[in-house]
Amino acid sequence: MSLEKVIKLRCGRCNRMVSLRITNDILEKARASLSGIYGVVDIHGDHAFVIYVDYKGNERGHKVFDIVESRREEVLNYLGRGRRLRLSEGFMNNFRAIRGITISARREGLFLEGGIMEGCVLKAVSRVKDVDIEVNFRSMNMSTVEWMKMLSRALDRSLDYCMFTLLTALGLLDLKCYTPPLPLHEELLRLIIESHVKVIRLSRYYHELLPLIEHRVREWYPRVFMKELPEGVPLSRLIGIHDAYRLEELGLYLMGLEARGLIELESVK
Ligand SMILES: [Zn+2]
Repeated sequence: MSLEKVIKLRCGRCNRMVSLRITNDILEKARASLSGIYGVVDIHGDHAFVIYVDYKGNERGHKVFDIVESRREEVLNYLGRGRRLRLSEGFMNNFRAIRGITISARREGLFLEGGIMEGCVLKAVSRVKDVDIEVNFRSMNMSTVEWMKMLSRALDRSLDYCMFTLLTALGLLDLKCYTPPLPLHEELLRLIIESHVKVIRLSRYYHELLPLIEHRVREWYPRVFMKELPEGVPLSRLIGIHDAYRLEELGLYLMGLEARGLIELESVK
């Protein structure tokens, strides 16, 4: 007998109705877990809505947390160590090339999974951070393999990471994984992964230099060009988790301004 059902709840942050399909797989995971409950995460906008269900599919609590402000420790305090969490179908449907994801952050004891894992599964491993990321692509080619290798290196070299910045980086992979990556994409991935501990500082030349290159920069980065850049807020706040086109342009724009000495991307870890 199937106990599958849909739970509808209003998100406490944005008031949007969230429907989560509680599949047999989720019920199985809840039954198998020590606590008998299992979390499903719906990520929309700048926050994540987590709903816990028990093995009968009953709701057992929910919480909202800020994606951009959350450091790893805060997320862990919310979610609890040793937890397994499932990304909602709604969130996974935003991907085109990616069908399934598992992220194992062993040091933190946090496991995130979503979609299905069969067929072409590639793995990115960071020994430095003790994190494994497995991604199931609809199809793959040499570029896909290169992107996953690049993700491993970018994660190794990043100052810090959190689950949401990793998901954001996977959003970029989803968009780009069939075209060969350029060396600057490794820097872009790193910037995304550590975006929660990076802020923009305008250099003292900013207001002097910007007018000189403004017309060109506007042309190159039409979707993200900003005359007044927000100083001191986490970069992850500027980065949308779903809009990978904008994400790439924004990252390259900021890296370009930094290379020209107009801004500095300062770490605040
Ligand atoms: Zn919401």
